[in-house]
Amino acid sequence: MISIKNVSKSFRSKQGTLTAVENVNLDINEGEIFGVIGYSGAGKSTLIRMLNRLESPTEGSITIAGREISKISEIELRKARQEISMIFQHFNLLWSRTVRENIAFPLEIAGIPGGERKKRVDELIKLVGLEGRENAYPSQLSGGQKQRVGIARALANNPKVLLCDEATSALDPQTTDAILDLLVDINKRLGLTIVLITHEMHVIRKICHRVAVMESGRIVELGPVLDVFKNP
Ligand code: ADP
Ligand code: ADP
Repeated sequence: MISIKNVSKSFRSKQGTLTAVENVNLDINEGEIFGVIGYSGAGKSTLIRMLNRLESPTEGSITIAGREISKISEIELRKARQEISMIFQHFNLLWSRTVRENIAFPLEIAGIPGGERKKRVDELIKLVGLEGRENAYPSQLSGGQKQRVGIARALANNPKVLLCDEATSALDPQTTDAILDLLVDINKRLGLTIVLITHEMHVIRKICHRVAVMESGRIVELGPVLDVFKNP
């Protein structure tokens, strides 16, 4: 589903060049929950942001569902971003809009007509367990509920891949577990490929099939979670 080949990303500044990601090679399978773990500054965020071209690689290529994401035009990129959606640590909701309006937003952009949009939003609200909160504003929601809105919005256009950028790092442990259960449920029900980055071992152990450990821009370990983190 995702093929990352010889990918590097450098940032240039007055201080010089900083290589955030260095020669990463990685294949992620369809339907897999794949985790990337590492300390702050390891390059996780830069790596995941290259998967939907919020950043572009300095070198190498990234292919997702047959599209070479690092090469396509802006128009194709818009289509690709419906298939590769993302959720964030701080949810990135529109604060002046209700739950329903936040979830409907990507459907509006995609030009889905009103009736169909309403039906789809109702399905999504049910899928993420937000029944009864449709007309609340983000400020009236708990952290877990806000992330449920983020997940519903990310799923609106039936993506093939869901990217999770520290999606539970702002949540307490109990809420984290509930959101992770939801991600597993979505992975099983929709066959969605999930790529997540985190600095928390617990998140990887709880839901990931395979894990890559990043250090200073490089993948230093890669394999099934039980092999990489086996207790001695
Ligand atoms: P992580 O997500 O693992 O914390 P990041 O990918 O955010 O790591 O950062 C990796 C390195 O790249 C860090 O040294 C960070 O300061 C640097 N970096 C990330 N984004 C930028 C940017 N836009 N400009 C300059 N340096 C950046
Ligand atoms: P609009 O009515 O134009 O859709 P928005 O809901 O996008 O307005 O944003 C209203 C204000 O709230 C803006 O100033 C925006 O920067 C701010 N805002 C939107 N999302 C967030 C967020 N996740 N966190 C903090 N502020 C936000």
